[in-house]
Amino acid sequence: MLAVRGTSYGGPEVLTVEELPDPSPGAGEVLIRTEAVGVNYIDTYHRSGLYPVPVPIALGVEGAGIVVETGPDVDTVAAGDRVAWARVNGSYATHVVAPADRLVPLPAGIPPQAAAAAMLQGMTAHYLSHCSYPLREDDTCLVHAAAGGVGLLLCQMAKLRGARVLATVSTAEKAELARGAGADEVILYTEQDFVPEVGRLTGGRGVDVVYDGVGRDTFVRGLDCLARRGSMILFGQASGPVEPLDPLTLMSKGSLYLQRPLLADYTWTRDELLSRAGQVLEWIGSGSLALRIGASFPLAEAADAHRALEGRLTAGKVLLIP
Ligand code: NDP
Repeated sequence: MLAVRGTSYGGPEVLTVEELPDPSPGAGEVLIRTEAVGVNYIDTYHRSGLYPVPVPIALGVEGAGIVVETGPDVDTVAAGDRVAWARVNGSYATHVVAPADRLVPLPAGIPPQAAAAAMLQGMTAHYLSHCSYPLREDDTCLVHAAAGGVGLLLCQMAKLRGARVLATVSTAEKAELARGAGADEVILYTEQDFVPEVGRLTGGRGVDVVYDGVGRDTFVRGLDCLARRGSMILFGQASGPVEPLDPLTLMSKGSLYLQRPLLADYTWTRDELLSRAGQVLEWIGSGSLALRIGASFPLAEAADAHRALEGRLTAGKVLLIP
């Protein structure tokens, strides 16, 4: 099998394609031939060491493919089944050994590219809009990096829940994409200070929730965009980690709530994984949710995929095709 691994922590240059022995599944495990692999920002944190993982780094957590073989004690899937996943290390590979209980059976009509594009960012957008801060019809939210992989899906889900969506993006092209995903107002945060803009667009009240996957460049000022008792959901750090925060700041800015969530905690049980993935896949199948695959790279060009993602050159999902 071929796999992309990181030889040490560092930039995209540490990623190399290696020929490894074909793996075999142990008890409770499944061997899958991958058909499409999802690239996610978390992969860059694993590569850089921001989220420490063992070295050599088994890159990638998401994908879709066909079950080749099942190990002992597996009764949820069988050889030939089409499956997808969002939490299996080593997914940048032609073959993946996965715990059977992390696999989601794919409904007919969802191609592997769509599944690999939907699982991680789709379930993230789902828990953010439905659980971290469950949006209501009279809410206004602010979605940063709204043309990103999570961003485009989060805008659409916020609209499905009836909320008003304010969005930030870096370019006019991304602004169009955010509008296409339902954003009511789009702010070019590379040209305009988003804090006064949000104030103007909300008549001085502020938004009920900020969904922030950008981190360092937006987090502190995002607190100034919130209405009294608003919620800051900090779910990532594409621009870098945020500084520590004094809890008194939350008081002085209007009794704010702060959460720093992780998808794993919202797909921890098999029931929750299946129901969250099932809802996302059903919306895709019915056309209620549109996926945008912004770029596809051959598996061997994973380093270029990381450069594009970190260089803010992508919009929507980035895939690797083995
Ligand atoms: P995106 O496709 O959203 O790519 C990141 C985007 O962030 C860029 O396109 C860019 O949009 C924006 N950005 C702003 N500043 C920077 C910067 N300095 N460098 C790079 N990008 C910047 O990625 P994902 O959808 O994969 O992930 C989005 C965020 O969500 C990440 O922080 C990720 O870690 C987080 N995440 C968290 C999860 C969780 O459960 N906690 C699960 C999934 C994702 P623009 O050009 O418009 O500024």
